[in-house]
Amino acid sequence: MQSSSHDTTANIPYIGRFAPSPTGPLHFGSLLAALASYLDAHSHGGKWLIRMEDLDPPREMPNAQERILEALDTYHLFSDEPIVYQSQRSDIYQQALDRLIKNNLVFPCTCSRKQLNVVNGIHFGNCYSVIDSNVPAFAWRFNCQSPTRLSLKQGDKVSFQDMLQGEFQQSLQQDIGDFVVKRKDQLWAYQLAMVIDDYHQGVTHVVRGIDLIDSTLRQNMLQAALNYPEPNYAHIPVACAANGQKLSKQNLAPALDLSNPTKNLWLALSWLRQKPPEKLRTASVKEMLEWGIAHWDIKVLSNIQSQAAI
Ligand code: GLU
Repeated sequence: MQSSSHDTTANIPYIGRFAPSPTGPLHFGSLLAALASYLDAHSHGGKWLIRMEDLDPPREMPNAQERILEALDTYHLFSDEPIVYQSQRSDIYQQALDRLIKNNLVFPCTCSRKQLNVVNGIHFGNCYSVIDSNVPAFAWRFNCQSPTRLSLKQGDKVSFQDMLQGEFQQSLQQDIGDFVVKRKDQLWAYQLAMVIDDYHQGVTHVVRGIDLIDSTLRQNMLQAALNYPEPNYAHIPVACAANGQKLSKQNLAPALDLSNPTKNLWLALSWLRQKPPEKLRTASVKEMLEWGIAHWDIKVLSNIQSQAAI
């Protein structure tokens, strides 16, 4: 696999992004991911893009897109290019799927969750599907055993090098399996759409929460299958509520307060271990971001998986 060492010199081409799903408003945890990716991009003299991952209408919350964009605006986290909406990119995803079909890297599958329960929910080679006209709805799965440039390590283990978390390894059979790229309900799977969009947007660096690290090797497999370069990855720790659960939209984490963005920005810089000085508390949003860019040191987040929200 391509080396994933993080570039630290300024003026190298750098395109980063923040890619929220509109399943709810931004909360403190999402601000951390947005801010870390923004600061990393700008401290490298790079660009930072916003992409709306609105692929799954049944899971969307009314007005979530507007609320997310309003929050990013309030925190002055402005996209350097027009915002991309995944809901408008179906043709591009279909073209990539057609390539995967042509190259025999995906297969149609009607296996139900119940059928897969006997194998811990992981589909691996053994397909229970019978595709015929009586079973019109099928998913497309990526054949995880297809030869790609991902080199296998010890048996069926694959790995990548994360800038913050070091080597991350998974087993094809136990952790990854033949994953879905287009769902039975004909919606595009996050894994496929993300890989295609990162490629088309020229994304070189992905800075996001460690809750997404599990997806990275699937994404690397698709990048290899589609002959796309692999971006560098840095997975930052997640913020936990007092009960130890990750702050998330699903856990109904409170929406970010938009009335006092500097309070949260200072706290976010502090949570990200950047040690903002006390006197920065009274600075403007713009000044805080400038301070953050000038002092950004992502390495202080190495080997940390979670931290209590402040
Ligand atoms: N849309 C995903 C989410 O909100 C994040 C995708 C990514 O950063 O790769 O969890």
